[in-house]
Amino acid sequence: MKLGVVGLPNVGKSTLFNAITNAGAQAENYPFCTIEPNTGVVLVPDHRLNVLADMYHPKKVTPTTIEFVDIAGLVKGASRGEGLGNKFLSHIREVDAIVHVVRCFNDDNIIHVDGSVDPVRDIETINLELIFADMETVQKRKDKAEKSFRGGDKKAGAEAELADRLYAHLESGKPARTLECTDDEKAILQSWFLLTTKPVIYAANISEDDLGKDDSEIDYVNQVRKTAAAENAEVIVISAAIEQDIASMNPEEKSEFLSELGIGQSGLDRLITASYRLLGLISFLTAGEDECRAWTIVNGTKAPQAAGKIHTDFEKGFIRAEIVPFDTLAELGSMAACKEKGLVRSEGKDYVMKDGDITLFRFNV
Ligand code: GDP
Repeated sequence: MKLGVVGLPNVGKSTLFNAITNAGAQAENYPFCTIEPNTGVVLVPDHRLNVLADMYHPKKVTPTTIEFVDIAGLVKGASRGEGLGNKFLSHIREVDAIVHVVRCFNDDNIIHVDGSVDPVRDIETINLELIFADMETVQKRKDKAEKSFRGGDKKAGAEAELADRLYAHLESGKPARTLECTDDEKAILQSWFLLTTKPVIYAANISEDDLGKDDSEIDYVNQVRKTAAAENAEVIVISAAIEQDIASMNPEEKSEFLSELGIGQSGLDRLITASYRLLGLISFLTAGEDECRAWTIVNGTKAPQAAGKIHTDFEKGFIRAEIVPFDTLAELGSMAACKEKGLVRSEGKDYVMKDGDITLFRFNV
């Protein structure tokens, strides 16, 4: 699961990306991640691991991670192949969700490609490029579906109708994700690999001088919120410049600095948490004296497939999962106490995992 960071030039993408790579996970702990120059892997903050660590004193605590990809260079005209436009659009095609960085700071020394700071116009500029690219895709799909329909494929009729409706929707400047459609139609849309079906978080990049202020007092942020609300997207307010500084601090310095600023959690941590949620991801946890660890699964994953995240043998030989919800364990203070009260559940192969399940898998080898 990957998030692509997009935005116009000079809005603070590289600065945010530096924060992401500075805060980055130790690559050697995550051999399954491909670390490329434009990719940053960050730890997903999870306070539950701290509680487990206090309980188990493990040799190792391993948070889970998500990956960000820097997709710099998206400019007006990209969908027509201007600049390196098409290359960037193809990078966006490969990500699961988008973080759209929007400039909400004034600085006369840093030119804006369109001459002034205007978050609504900037959002529209980027979104239109994605919409234009999708219109081209949808037109091709429509032509193909109509041809199949004429050839006798009844099912293709529905596809052509959907393409028609979506084209008009895109033409009116709206992203595909806001099109009202049935579950069957959603499945068709998934198979078209569109750009504007991908979920988005707007990262409003504010001036460091505005940090600690009530967001509703910052005009630029209000403008971003209004635009985001129209497409049911979330907004995270950050100051990329400050995040870059915070990311290179050790945990004590970081918490001291944040409390001086009067904020509880860094913007980057909020962005990571929101991104995780946006992707429909949850974590189950394993706890022991060797390691306490969080594992990522898609919401809705069943126990055997969750076991398979740890090892394919766990999935193949799955017998059952022994589960205690994190809150129960935290309240009772130990696994032994949970067992004594009969609160460790035994779940079979149809069990749908929940966020925060402390899990022990039983399996045949
Ligand atoms: P990109 O082109 O979107 O990657 O933008 P950069 O990250 O390179 O930022 C462009 C310029 O804006 C750089 O000089 C940054 O130092 C500056 N910048 C980025 N974020 C902030 C911010 O939050 N506040 C201020 N004042 N400057 C920023």
